[in-house]
Amino acid sequence: MSAVPVPVDDLQAYAESDAGCTRCRLSQGRTQVVFGSGNPRAELMFVGEAPGFHEDKQGLPFVGQAGKLLEKLLNGIGMQRSDAYIANVLKCRPPGNRDPQPDEIEACESHLFRQIELIQPTVVATLGNFATKLLSGRPLGITRVHGQEQETTLGGRSVVLYPLYHPAAALYTPAMLKVLELDFVRIPELLGRALVPPEPELGLVSQPAPPAEQLGLF
Ligand code: URA
Repeated sequence: MSAVPVPVDDLQAYAESDAGCTRCRLSQGRTQVVFGSGNPRAELMFVGEAPGFHEDKQGLPFVGQAGKLLEKLLNGIGMQRSDAYIANVLKCRPPGNRDPQPDEIEACESHLFRQIELIQPTVVATLGNFATKLLSGRPLGITRVHGQEQETTLGGRSVVLYPLYHPAAALYTPAMLKVLELDFVRIPELLGRALVPPEPELGLVSQPAPPAEQLGLF
């Protein structure tokens, strides 16, 4: 669907208006709102779960180990992190990186929907269960639906929703990483671009996984 491009400034202005958000209890424990980052005109948008420790400190999504993996996966299909836009379901870090609570998701979701409306991506890749369930509007878990694109309407426009395993989960499970790599290979096709052969190995599968606290995943 063709659409009139939204001024980039509108996204910036929205991010600024969001910076003092107090819609839910997470505002009390956060360092800052992690709105999102990347190309405001991206055709490809990723939606993760919530900021973790490093994201909360730096104010940027996916800057820890999971973010490094996301970047490698993007590089493997011939894309850069800066080509995409990256956001989360929740914009503030849940204490101790616990799961998002339903009332927090409800309080925060309009920020994400507005982001999608302003960015106008063609493909929205949801990373893990929380983003997938919220944006698909269905309760099906990521194990069942990963790699299965679906047309849906988000931000008032038709988009391809593409559920993927969360990179943080794939870091510790080589079989899941393999599936994630294979699912990634289809992203250029979904974007209507020429296929780029994937890197055969990311070089992460064979490494022993350090404990989560050591990696500072979130
Ligand atoms: N995991 C997420 O879901 N989001 C981040 O920003 C970082 C890790």
